[in-house]
Amino acid sequence: MPSEIRISQRITRVAESATLAIDAKAKALSAAGIDIIGFGAGEPDFPTPHFIVEAAARATSDPKNHHYTAATGLPELKEAIAIKTLRDSGLRYEPSQIIVTNGAKHAIFNTIVTMVDEGDEVLVPSPFWTTYPELVRLAGGVPIEIPTTHENGFKVTPATIEPYLTKHTRLFLHVSPSNPTGALYTPQETSELATFLADHDVAVMADEIYEHLTYDGNRSTSIFACSEALKETGVIVNGVAKTYAMTGWRIGWMIAPPPVTKAAANLQSQVTSNISNVSQRAALAALTADLSAVQPMIDAFDQRRRTMTSMLSSIEGVDLELPQGAFYAFPYVGDLLKKRFGNQSVTSTMELAELLLDQAKIAVVPGEAFGAPGYLRFSYALAEADLVEGIKRFTDFVNSAEG
Ligand code: PMP
Repeated sequence: MPSEIRISQRITRVAESATLAIDAKAKALSAAGIDIIGFGAGEPDFPTPHFIVEAAARATSDPKNHHYTAATGLPELKEAIAIKTLRDSGLRYEPSQIIVTNGAKHAIFNTIVTMVDEGDEVLVPSPFWTTYPELVRLAGGVPIEIPTTHENGFKVTPATIEPYLTKHTRLFLHVSPSNPTGALYTPQETSELATFLADHDVAVMADEIYEHLTYDGNRSTSIFACSEALKETGVIVNGVAKTYAMTGWRIGWMIAPPPVTKAAANLQSQVTSNISNVSQRAALAALTADLSAVQPMIDAFDQRRRTMTSMLSSIEGVDLELPQGAFYAFPYVGDLLKKRFGNQSVTSTMELAELLLDQAKIAVVPGEAFGAPGYLRFSYALAEADLVEGIKRFTDFVNSAEG
């Protein structure tokens, strides 16, 4: 008799990534020949700009990239990340404070398991990116959700955070622009948050992965540019995935106070060793160039953002404002849950998303994945023609409802 297969309690606490699960289901249906329009994926549909691919191609034939390199990243890349952070966020860091990771997700993992102890509370504004609370739980911490809604622009303020502070508060997770809501904090709002968090000695992990995906002339503001005290204790997480259409290359990084970098470097030296050298060389090419290859992608997202928002907001029972950043629309659709679709009724956006996949042949992510039942997340990082066709399917589906 084989002994019972036991999964550790630590890993049992972690749920599957709901966004990746929906994406996998949609891709499996497409592979089976079913015409699915996918609004699920959180990734640009563009290929990586050619000059970056070329740099990677050159790197594959250079034997120096065929071997182990420093676990925390190639020195040239860390230098480039420091220069880029000064260019884009106005923040000066030493390359020795940087660790190159397997995507920003891995940087978030490193940060949370390095900073959070059993019982520590981590403040997570909700709706949140699905990975944050799972990794907090993995670390033994307690995710504390601070709810926001479409009515307050999905933003927290010092007044809404204050009641959640306790003596166990360890970390605040800040992401602007946000996945899933597309919310962008203004410089003034960011500054107010920074002052408040610094005054209360709360360290911040700032996820800046969508920093360049802003529209209407707005720019994102690094929370650490607003408070030197906050910068000294906080961690920046970033990566090339969203800005350069490089999700598959898996390059991210963290920039942290030296003791955190040292501890996370020890961890990384045991867990992954260095990240792929070829991908690091590709990221080096991306970060040392100007942003001219990025602008056309931002312009395309902007166009799709407008198309999607105007189509969605004209549907009765669908409520949303123009999102300010990233590439997601996050409409409130709670009113649709009172209706019947054909002979079926739905009681949650989870069920609605399933019905949309089965019947309307569109993949969207239910708000439940982000701690926000009543909402659906539509990515607009897909070709405009597909986007229009997909939203038409959604519109027809919603209009077919009774009740
Ligand atoms: N942070 C946020 C807010 C994200 O949306 C994502 C990707 N969906 C990541 C981090 C992870 O990015 P990467 O692909 O670099 O791991």
